[in-house]
Amino acid sequence: MAINKDSDLHMHSTASDGNYSPDDLMKKCYDVGLKIVALTDHDTVQGVPNAIEVGRSLGLTVIPGIELSTKIQGRSVHILGYGIEYENSEMLAFLGEQQQYRSERLNQMINKLSKSGVKLTRTDVLKHVDGGSIGRPHVAKAMIDAGYVDSVSEAFDQFLAEGKPGFVEKQKEMTVKEAIDFIHRYNGVAVVAHADYYGLDEEIESWVREWGLDGIEVFHRDHNAETVQRYLTLVNQIEANTGAELLLTGGSDFHDEEYGRVPEPLGVTRLADQYAEILLQRISKSDS
Ligand SMILES: [Zn+2]
Ligand SMILES: [Zn+2]
Repeated sequence: MAINKDSDLHMHSTASDGNYSPDDLMKKCYDVGLKIVALTDHDTVQGVPNAIEVGRSLGLTVIPGIELSTKIQGRSVHILGYGIEYENSEMLAFLGEQQQYRSERLNQMINKLSKSGVKLTRTDVLKHVDGGSIGRPHVAKAMIDAGYVDSVSEAFDQFLAEGKPGFVEKQKEMTVKEAIDFIHRYNGVAVVAHADYYGLDEEIESWVREWGLDGIEVFHRDHNAETVQRYLTLVNQIEANTGAELLLTGGSDFHDEEYGRVPEPLGVTRLADQYAEILLQRISKSDS
């Protein structure tokens, strides 16, 4: 029997940092023959209703998703949430506040820097943001571009570090546990995104055991065959040790044709449908 690979459970629209509107993205999915897809914008579900409406009209199965930015041991970790109640007003209010805060912090930094003679616009900074929270490194890169400093460290030392003229206090980021709890509270399942990015493989079992992490993004455009094998082994090991049944997910992480370590069009990285179907079953169970 042929294995169908017509699923893609990780992609971004203009609701976060992708280049295509949810509407156009679903049309692209349809054009390249995808059947089961999930929209997983950074820290927002704003694009989900539109993706669902357009995707379904094209005959696609569209799973509501989100990719939450978290911090653990000083490292950024992304947690995917699938099947969350994307219309829940409490959840929307929380995400909206977070977004407002990040955006406001950037304005404050720009104002403070301007008083020290560093003139940047929001656009100058946002150019350097490739998903997740806007932070000082992005401001530093914009300063380099504009010729104010030669390096990120110089930008921090002179302007952005605590006590320097461009410093603005930061809101505490979600922890991995908080992100998992958040996703569960709104009836979704939580999956660690592109697990290979973090060097935290040995921690993942405890996230499953102690915090109820539901799965691992084993397949990703930046995971080569060897990496996939490593995560398949890890899944088996964690399942044996914890008795949990993990979800295995995957996707292209498509933002636009230029994005990524190796740029590629939508539809190149594809997930075997069997994994997406198991996810669908799990989500429909948590609905009822
Ligand atoms: Zn990510
Ligand atoms: Zn992503």
